[in-house]
Amino acid sequence: MENKNDLNQGWNFDNTYVKLPSIFFTKTKPKLVPSPNLIKFNDSLALNLGLKAEFLLNKTGAEVFSGNALPHGSDPIAQAYAGHQFGYFTMLGDGRAILLGEQITPTGNRIDIQLKGAGRTPYSRGGDGRASLGPMLREYIISEAMYGLGIPTTRSLAVVTTGEWITREEPQIGAILTRIASSHLRVGTFEYAAKWGNIDELKSLADYALKRHFPDFADKSNKYLYLLQEVIKKQAQLIAKWQLVGFIHGVMNTDNITISGETIDYGPCAFMDTYDPNTVFSSIDMHGRYAYGNQPQIGAWDLSKLAEALLQLLDEDKDKAIDIASESISNYGQIYRLNYLSGMRSKLGIHNEEAEDDVLIKNLLDIMHKYKADYTNTFRALTLQKLKDMKMFCSSEFIKWHELWQERLNRQNASKEDIYNLMKKSNPSVIPRNHRVEEALKSAVEHSDYSVMNRLLDVLSCPYDYTTNHEEYAKLPPKSDVPYRTFCGT
Ligand code: AMP
Ligand code: MG
Repeated sequence: MENKNDLNQGWNFDNTYVKLPSIFFTKTKPKLVPSPNLIKFNDSLALNLGLKAEFLLNKTGAEVFSGNALPHGSDPIAQAYAGHQFGYFTMLGDGRAILLGEQITPTGNRIDIQLKGAGRTPYSRGGDGRASLGPMLREYIISEAMYGLGIPTTRSLAVVTTGEWITREEPQIGAILTRIASSHLRVGTFEYAAKWGNIDELKSLADYALKRHFPDFADKSNKYLYLLQEVIKKQAQLIAKWQLVGFIHGVMNTDNITISGETIDYGPCAFMDTYDPNTVFSSIDMHGRYAYGNQPQIGAWDLSKLAEALLQLLDEDKDKAIDIASESISNYGQIYRLNYLSGMRSKLGIHNEEAEDDVLIKNLLDIMHKYKADYTNTFRALTLQKLKDMKMFCSSEFIKWHELWQERLNRQNASKEDIYNLMKKSNPSVIPRNHRVEEALKSAVEHSDYSVMNRLLDVLSCPYDYTTNHEEYAKLPPKSDVPYRTFCGT
């Protein structure tokens, strides 16, 4: 099954996950697909990974990124994990994803390379192990957009179609996405270890996570507490970044919360258009558990599941362990708020700190909410000082707020240019707007025309550039009576 060209392709695997205790994975090969076709390849990402695009395009790429040919050094596995889904604990695991291995990049980073949609595994439960083209392209677009926005995320290296139709409500074109991540360790991996592993297995996993993501643990008095605190910090920072750009993940189950602090699992996610904390796009999130405004608290809830999973390692005395864990979780709110506040100050061009800044921010958001203002375009307009296109800008509330904001800007030591520069790099001019994403997917899936998607990806790769090219992509769709809905990518 090894490819003739594989040594030329730049693979440089060093697989460490397979050295963990065997409860954490099952060795599984991708299932063969009949007629793979490479339809999307991320050249610049490939270069960062040390892969040689010229040997991976066309037929060879199709073979490798469909799982039909294993790259040199790959030791494929499906990872075991559990998770709380909408509040309920379940055994999960890679039901349709297969980790090919860990690529060591030219700069020495260790990166997981995973095929999503690579066929059934021992964790597939009732599923077919496959994925369809639309959702895989959607993940490609949104994850690359997040990367462009500077938000930690898994990324997308390639998409192949498999030549198979897969059965969903309607038959769909089968596809496989190659996803890369700094690891696929999740809160749910620890929940799995705590529930079904012994203490040594839990320790192995925690030691592995420390070594891989938080290597400064050596001088810490309690390294497992350090692990918990670092994950709390990373997630608080991440979720603040989501809030600042209006990203709604849509399915913040604990299996979708990484230890690395990268955004993972682009199923029903979407960007908020009209500012409203209650915004939910996901068709399965009936009660708004994962609404925009709930994401910060849900982050704390998810991390409390990590804390529970680590309890045995925090202290031998259970009560003491609970106290330690609770204290760490209680710090999350403060870390989140500081990150959010500092990001919001930047969005408003504020360089220094004043105690009342949070009131200024809240007042603006309240006015946006009242006037149903577009979240991204409000900050875009403030950045460009083009305050005319929205009804809100003519309101007395906004005019009053604007005066207070200008006074606030004058109470800092920053030039007009400093303010503009800070706002420009903090407020994306474009986001993956839902109608643009849909338009790109329709062209690709229904007409095999990838040009619309490629143009969108181009714009999304430099969202802070404010070029004229952006203007078209910043426009809102024609008004629709039907709210936008997203579906899980299964
Ligand atoms: P997700 O909603 O993508 O986070 O997936 C939740 C769980 O369902 C994970 O264990 C997935 O591996 C599994 N899963 C999702 N889709 C499929 C599928 N088509 N076949 C098998 N397992 C799946
Ligand atoms: Mg998941």
